[in-house]
Amino acid sequence: MNAVRPAAPQLADIEPYDPKYIPADIMISANENSLDVPLDIRRQIEHEVRRVPFNRYPDPLANDLRDMIAEANGLDRDQVIMGNGGDELLFDLALAWGGPGRTFLNLPPTFSVYKNNAQLTNTAIVDIPRCDDFSIDEDAVLERLAKGDIDYAIVTSPNNPTGDLAQATFVEEMLKTSDTLVMVDEAYFEFSRYTVRPLLDSYENLVILRTFSKAFSMAGVRMGYLLGNPRVIDEFKKVRQPYSVDAVSQAVARIVYQNRAKFEKSIDAIIAERGRVYEALGKLPGVMAYPSESNYILIRFDEDVDAGWIWQWLLERGILVRDFSRSSYLENCLRVSIGTEDENTRFLETLRDVLAQVGVAV
Ligand code: PMP
Repeated sequence: MNAVRPAAPQLADIEPYDPKYIPADIMISANENSLDVPLDIRRQIEHEVRRVPFNRYPDPLANDLRDMIAEANGLDRDQVIMGNGGDELLFDLALAWGGPGRTFLNLPPTFSVYKNNAQLTNTAIVDIPRCDDFSIDEDAVLERLAKGDIDYAIVTSPNNPTGDLAQATFVEEMLKTSDTLVMVDEAYFEFSRYTVRPLLDSYENLVILRTFSKAFSMAGVRMGYLLGNPRVIDEFKKVRQPYSVDAVSQAVARIVYQNRAKFEKSIDAIIAERGRVYEALGKLPGVMAYPSESNYILIRFDEDVDAGWIWQWLLERGILVRDFSRSSYLENCLRVSIGTEDENTRFLETLRDVLAQVGVAV
């Protein structure tokens, strides 16, 4: 058999994305919505999908969706672009604003996909780590931007996995400081009810990322979008895959978006449960929960408790959470998504049991 020549050199240090998504009774590891799309909406979706011609290419830009989203956000069609999940648009950002000789500003710990995309596109990465409480080191960010050599930056709000918001006043300072393209990743903004959307009216160098995967229960279908200035959106059109947003996903997303008001109740329930879980975690010895504006909570365990071991123990009892215990800045941390009331209760009870097991007085 012939040997194969090596792949591109920038791949050498890249680990394929592996969130250890193992089937379990209670799936609270991936910040999904534990509730699927409600039945009455699913019926409308079935009807809509039946009308999709499978033999024809889809509308490449999904203009019906662009129009709906533009209208809901007080924008025009040319200020919106759709993607195959937010993930595709994050990759497109690195393709369009990154590349050899260009630089990305990252604020770790944050969503790991940003760094991967920069590496894949041979983009230099400047890290400005968050402070000990995971708030953004705002002075350091502004100082670095002022040097003028950052091509794009990503600010995640609420941040994954730490749960905190970036304030609009700070984002505005970033936008004023340089012509760097600043993406504010609002994948979870429905759970914070906070957006920097008003800044779009004044700043050409802002672009906002959103997704249908979280609040709208659509992680399995793949639909994300950007809000931005038409000139920025035009650059994304150049790098995107022509038919990445397929006709079936477009049909599903149209119906879900038309029915978006019906998701408000489950968003409210998640926000209320987040408060309950945070409070309960605060009463457990040996753990420290970080306040969250999103649909997950980051937990750090005391040094004498091994978070990796707790992750395994929970999994053996049918509960899958996200293990960050070996990730930079997140030593001994787990992240738990907010599920249904029953799921959260089972998680809390099981965690209490395991802490008792390892000798932390409960
Ligand atoms: N941004 C952040 C911060 C995320 O956590 C995720 C999902 N894990 C995404 C973007 C992308 O989500 P999707 O591709 O499902 O739209």
